[in-house]
Parts: sequence; structure tokens; C-alpha cells
Amino acid sequence: MRVAFYTLGCKVNQYESEALSAAFAQIGFETVPADQPADVYIINSCTVTSASDQKTRQLLHRLRRQNPDAVIALTGCFPQAFPERALQMEEADIIRGARDRLKLLDDVQAVLSSGGRIHALFPHERGEAFESMAIGRFHERTRAFVKIEDGCDKYCSYCIIPKARGPIRSKPLKELESELHTLSANGYREIVLVGINLSSYGRELGCGLTDAVELACSVPGIERVRLGSLEPELLSDGDLMRLAKLPKFCPQFHLSLQSGCDETLRRMNRRYTSAEYLTLVQKIRRTFENSAITTDIMVGFPGETEEEFGESLAFVKAVGFARAHVFAYSRRTGTRADRMPCQLTRREKECRSAAMIAATNEARAAFLRTQTGLVEPVLFETCTADGCYEGYTPNYSLVRVKYDKPLSGKIFPVLITGAEAEYCTGQLVQEP
Ligand code: SF4
Repeated sequence: MRVAFYTLGCKVNQYESEALSAAFAQIGFETVPADQPADVYIINSCTVTSASDQKTRQLLHRLRRQNPDAVIALTGCFPQAFPERALQMEEADIIRGARDRLKLLDDVQAVLSSGGRIHALFPHERGEAFESMAIGRFHERTRAFVKIEDGCDKYCSYCIIPKARGPIRSKPLKELESELHTLSANGYREIVLVGINLSSYGRELGCGLTDAVELACSVPGIERVRLGSLEPELLSDGDLMRLAKLPKFCPQFHLSLQSGCDETLRRMNRRYTSAEYLTLVQKIRRTFENSAITTDIMVGFPGETEEEFGESLAFVKAVGFARAHVFAYSRRTGTRADRMPCQLTRREKECRSAAMIAATNEARAAFLRTQTGLVEPVLFETCTADGCYEGYTPNYSLVRVKYDKPLSGKIFPVLITGAEAEYCTGQLVQEP
């Protein structure tokens, strides 16, 4: 039997699809690429914007049209956050939310043997346990993303994710340790710890994110440990001190900003001010040599005036992000922001996105130029069409090196000799 996965959304979803694929392999299924014929299709959905829902709907229609006899399962954040809408999607044989994902294996076997439809949509509840899942491989060959936390209780006013993902719950350190040993044995050199609200890792277990990083750094064979997106208000001085003592820790801090205007941050229900954010950035830059600050920025939040946008833009320019994901606010049913007055027009949001993207592109190019002349270890990943190998430095600068023998999967020191708009160029310091 063949199973194919369509994964939408974030790295947490990608991890869960990998874990499901590994579990299906244990009961004899072969995972095939999503565009190939399969007996079972799993759509692991995202619901962060209404465009994500639209993608899920279209994918489901297309899959059913092209594969009338296959078993199709819809799972993930969309059916969990909007169960009534999901139940109207009759092309899916199985509809299961974001809880008890591994029960999909039983669901699939039941539908394959007896037909029928299965609906398993249960709301999240207080005290819910972290679902134990593990991966031994990831679709990238050198770096594996490992989910260690699920859920969020921050209720930012624009975000539906707390409804889709439920309360904060964390992977116990013992389980994490065993998973990391397996990944190391399978050749993964870099681990990226991810979660829905990663900064809250371990709160209910009596430990914290820094404990998970220290554990990951202690695993032989793992040479780098990186963190996913962080909430700025939850990174303490003590954490920074402990992280700075770990040579394997990659000093790239993805600090979710959303806006550089305090009034907008307040309406978003974010829990920090721009001044607090800047103080944290300065501390990181003092504590870690050659660190990079990356971020997400939303423009066009309801009620964002020209002055507020100007404040946000000026703040973003002042920080000088090494990389930023800029996106326009999009309305999400079921959130407070959706009911706020003064929604901006599409045109206004597009103009502000363009201005913010131009500023962050400029900052990125300037950051890459600061890397010129440094010797940095690069974990090589892929070979480009023009015969260059490319990979990332610890602070997540992309570096390209022209070389005629394979470099993928290994770390080599590189002298950075130049910078383009999106990557650095360099040369190996010594022959491998
Ligand atoms: S911290 Fe805010 S934006 Fe992030 S998942 Fe939680 S509610 Fe959503």
C-alpha cells in the first residue's frame, strides 16, 4: 500500500507528517511523493490564514477528482479550528483534527477494509498530554526539525492557532534525547527545535527551552542546534547566559516582532513594547559574537494609521534585521481582530508590504556585507545548477562556494569573500 502526504503550513506540520510517514512505514506502507499514484492521501492542513483554508479545499477537490478510489484523510489545524466547515467537505473519507494524530493509522486501515467515513473531531482540553511522536529522518538531508512543544495560550488578537493547537504541552526530555540519538545515528548534523509557542517549552514539566537546547548540544554527532521562532518576552538574561556557553548553539534568534509600533502591538495583544524588544536585541548582540536577528512583520493590521505604519517601519530599519518575513494582515474568522473596526483595503496593505519588504531587503543585504572577510563553518546542503555548493553558517547566512567535488552533508570552514542580495560567496579555507 502506498501513502502520500500533502503538508501545508509550518515546520511543526512538516515534522508531524514525517512522524506519521514513519508510523505508516511500520505497518507496511510505502510513502511516495505527493504527485505519484497512491492508495491513501493525507492532507495535513494549515489554517493560519483564509488563503490556507482555500488551498486545502482546492487540494481536496483535485485529489478526489484525480483519485476517485483512493482513501483521502483531512487532518491538522483546519478541521480542528473549524470542525463544522470541515464536516461539509464530503470528498474526505477521514476527517481528524490536530489531536491523536497517530490514530489516523487505525482510521485508514478501517476505511480500507470496510469503507465508510470516519470523523474524529474533539476539542482540545486542559491538561491534554503531548502526543508522543518521533522521527528518524527528515526530508532535508542534513538538518532535521524536531517538534518539542505544541499549543499556545497567548491569544494574539489576529491568531486562530490557540483554537487549532490547544494548551501548551511539551515533549519530555527523555523522549527528546532518544529521538536525537536516532537522528544523529542517521547522519543529521543540525537540529532545529520547533514548536507552536516554542518559548513556552517545558512550562508544565518544570523545565525550560534552554534545558532542551543543552540536552540537544550534548548528543554526540549533532554539531549544531538552532531554535525556531521565539516570543521576545520569554527570553530571559539567564537563558541568554546559558545559551552563550554552548559552542554548538547557533546564534540566530528569530524573534517574532509583528509590529514596531507600540499602539499596534497593544491591539494585537502582543506582550512587549518596541523598547523592550530593542533592549533584548542589544543584549543578544552583546552576548553572542556575529549573531543574527530574524523576524516576522505584519503590516496593515486593523486600525494601523499611516503614522503607526511609519513608526513600525522606522523601528524595523533601526533594528537592522538579517532576514524578515513580511506579510499583510489577513482576516481570520473567530479572532478578535476580525471584528475590529477600520480594516485596511487590499491596496493599502499592498503598498505597506512593498515598503516594508524594500526596507528589510536592504537590511538583509547590509547584514550579508558584514560577513565579508570572516571565516565561518558552513554546513553544505545542496548543489546549485551552476555547480556551486550552498549551505548555512551558524547565524543562518546562506553561502555559495564553487567546488568540483561533493560537499553536501559536511561542515567546512569558508572564507566569505563577497555578498550578493540574498547570499554570500566564499571559498574553502582548506581542501577537504
Ligand atoms: S504567540 Fe500569538 S501568534 Fe504565536 S501562535 Fe500564539 S497566539 Fe498565535
